[in-house]
Amino acid sequence: MAYVISNDCTACGTCISECPSEAISEGNIYKIDPDACIDCGACADVCPVEAISPA
Ligand code: SF4
Ligand code: SF4
Repeated sequence: MAYVISNDCTACGTCISECPSEAISEGNIYKIDPDACIDCGACADVCPVEAISPA
């Protein structure tokens, strides 16, 4: 289980500082490493375009 980032991501950067396990990496669309994600949901709560959801 891990959260995933959809193509709706605008690369705003808001989520990355919220992740306690450094599972999020930057890019044109941000990505979550499923092996590092601990399913806390913190990133999904702050995404302004609701691009992050549980897999
Ligand atoms: Fe990081 Fe939590 Fe989001 Fe997983 S759900 S990527 S651990 S902030
Ligand atoms: Fe992309 Fe949402 Fe993260 Fe912003 S907060 S970088 S839109 S996933």
